[in-house]
Parts: sequence; structure tokens; C-alpha cells
Amino acid sequence: MGTTMKVLAIANQKGGVGKTTTAVNLAASLAHLGQRVLLVDLDPQANATMGSGVDKSKLKHSIYSLLLGDSTMAQTTQHSESGGFDLLPASRDLAGAEVELVDANEREMRLKSALSGVNAQYDYVLLDCPPALNLLTLNGLVAADAVLIPMQCEYYALEGLSDLVNTLRRIKQSLNKKIEIEGLLRTMFDPRSTLAQQVSEQLVKHFTSKLYHTVIPRNVRLAEAPSYGRPILAYDKSSKGAQAYLQLANEMLARHASGDIAPSI
Ligand code: ATP
Ligand code: MG
Repeated sequence: MGTTMKVLAIANQKGGVGKTTTAVNLAASLAHLGQRVLLVDLDPQANATMGSGVDKSKLKHSIYSLLLGDSTMAQTTQHSESGGFDLLPASRDLAGAEVELVDANEREMRLKSALSGVNAQYDYVLLDCPPALNLLTLNGLVAADAVLIPMQCEYYALEGLSDLVNTLRRIKQSLNKKIEIEGLLRTMFDPRSTLAQQVSEQLVKHFTSKLYHTVIPRNVRLAEAPSYGRPILAYDKSSKGAQAYLQLANEMLARHASGDIAPSI
């Protein structure tokens, strides 16, 4: 029985690799499998918020006010009806949090301390990080137990990955000693691409147990679903994308249940 809440940052400083798609659809898939899930949108683009069916323009409180101490967890938490999970939503003003937090006390610890109050309420907390190693991502990495890294199997993917792993090592030495790599996830995979296959083989060779077996295929239904404010399970359950994210959630639960502690960084 998982009795402790697991906080997973979904991070990669490279843009457009499927972080938000993974955050929203993994959240919905875990919820579908009976887990209590909180999704945290740490990106001023607020794509995870909109993709969960919550209108960012109608929010009274957001992760921005929470990080600044101007709202409580209870005031800030929304529920995604289409996803079956709770959400700490973002709005455009989150971009300003960077500036306002710079001089604030314990500026990297804000999310961690906010989450410490909800330990008994959730099984999984997923953090959708922006494509940058900024103060918002840093708040995510300080709050996280482990990092799930979505990546496309492209030529420069491995280079970007070593930058990220170096950053995680530095954070492990300073701000968050317990952080681990949860795993690497291959996203937007096109099996007909020879390059994608080659990069994938390299990942298998170098990262072995850190690599999730589940591969997320390129699937147009995954790209369509956010404009309806729905995770793929509520948009087209029979699609290849929906089945892949369900499989990912099952693989994650199996790994955690078997006590397969995330390998160290
Ligand atoms: P950013 O770095 O800007 O936050 P991201 O890493 O969160 O981007 P997403 O927004 O999830 O990436 O995905 C980028 C684009 O690719 C989106 O338009 C999304 O709908 C699309 N996309 C993501 N995954 C898939 C997939 N498996 N198949 C098809 N399209 C996808
Ligand atoms: Mg994103």
C-alpha cells in the first residue's frame, strides 16, 4: 500500500517534448486507476490548466498567489471534472512570480512547504514544469521526490539530457538531497523513423532500468484533446495515445508497488 504521497516533477528544459501532454494524461490515467492525484501547473503558458478543462482567465487564485503566500492550498485547488484529479492552476501572471520571488525568503522552497500540508490527501502529485531551468522549475525540483523526463528520440536529445542530469546532480548536492530520476519516457515516437529507432536503442543501452518500457507514439488525438479541455481518456479512450498513457500509469504503479526504488542519479 502506498501510504506516502509521491511528488514527481515532469521536467526537461527543452521545449515541446511532451511534458504537459504527459502531465495531464498521466494524471488522468492514474486517477482512472484509482489514485488520488494533484496536478500542479508551474508554467505561465498554463497549457496543463487549459488541457484539464479549467479556464485560466476565470481564476481568483492560482499557483502564483500560492507561491507568493497570498492564497491557501484550499483556496487555490480546483477540480478537473474531465480528468478526475485536483489541479493547482496557473495563469499568465505566473511569469511575474519569477521577479517577485527573487528577493523573497526561501524562494526555492515555496512549493515544497505548500505541499507539506496535503501529505495525506494525495497518492501522486505531478508537477508540470516550464521549458527552462528557472525559479519555477527549481521550486518543482526542490519539492519533488523524483523527476520524470519526457524526451523525443531526436539527434540532440542525448546532449540536452546530460545538461539536465548535471543540473539534477547539483540540486541533489544542495537543495534536495533525496531527489532521484524516476525515469525517461520516449514521447511522440514514430517507429517508421530510422533516426528515432537509433536514438531509442542508445537510450536503452545507456539508461537501461531508468528507461520506461512504455513508449508514447505520435498520435494526433493527443494533440487535439487539449482544445476540448479534456485529457485523452475523456476525449478518445480507444486511441493509441490513450492506451499508451494508461500503460504508462500501470507501469509506474507496478514499479512503485514492487518497491523498485528509482535508481540513483
Ligand atoms: P513546452 O516546453 O512548451 O512546455 P511541452 O514539453 O509541455 O512544451 P507539449 O505541450 O506536451 O510539450 O507538446 C508539444 C506539442 O506537441 C503540443 O502541441 C502537443 O499537443 C503535441 N504533442 C505532444 N505529445 C504528442 C504525441 N504523442 N503525439 C502528437 N502530438 C503530441
Ligand atoms: Mg508544457
